Amino acid sequence: MVTKREIKRIIALLLSATVVFSSQLLTAHAHNSDYFSGTYTASQSIKDMNFRIESSAITSLLTSQVYYSAYAWDNVSSNVGTIGIAIAAPGMPSSGFIIVTGKSYTDGTLGETIPRKADGSIANVDDNWAGVSIRMNTNSNAFSGASNPTTAAKKTFIHEVGHTLKLSHPKKNSSLSGHIYNGLPRAVMNQGYPNSQAVASTVVTHDKTNLRTKWGT
Ligand SMILES: [Zn+2]
Ligand SMILES: [Zn+2]
Repeated sequence: MVTKREIKRIIALLLSATVVFSSQLLTAHAHNSDYFSGTYTASQSIKDMNFRIESSAITSLLTSQVYYSAYAWDNVSSNVGTIGIAIAAPGMPSSGFIIVTGKSYTDGTLGETIPRKADGSIANVDDNWAGVSIRMNTNSNAFSGASNPTTAAKKTFIHEVGHTLKLSHPKKNSSLSGHIYNGLPRAVMNQGYPNSQAVASTVVTHDKTNLRTKWGT
């Protein structure tokens, strides 16, 4: 089972970025180029990002402990710094946070990341993003296909946070070192449940290498 809706969103965005990816293929396409172009506009910093988990995103499976798993990105790159996770409470400000909401999907979505322009419309992946948000699937059956639903839920949030850091899905290419799983490397940025060897349940070397190539060590 893969995240069909997320694929649709990211693939649609990828399609509009074909030119950029083609030029990378001709010049610098490499093992460590699994990330989008661009950065954030002044309204959102890549350094020390804070996420606000709305009550709609909390379920018996999607607990605070699931969301704290995003700390796996902490200090991989000094320019990204550390992740902040705030479980929303009455009176807590919403400005300065990347908002994480929940929605019940029945189409195979596990989670999705939505980059935005300043006017609120959806941005292309390679644009400079004015903001971003995450939606997690709160349907009670959402993670039932996973061998370990809690691990899969953690993996999903870590993966979506990876997208907010402008990481993309690893490119399939059997000739690249470590791409030993049907052309894919082991990475949390692979899609799907961590039931297969290619889909890591947390941040691993391939993810770290790409984050550091994108943002610096
Ligand atoms: Zn690779
Ligand atoms: Zn994804």
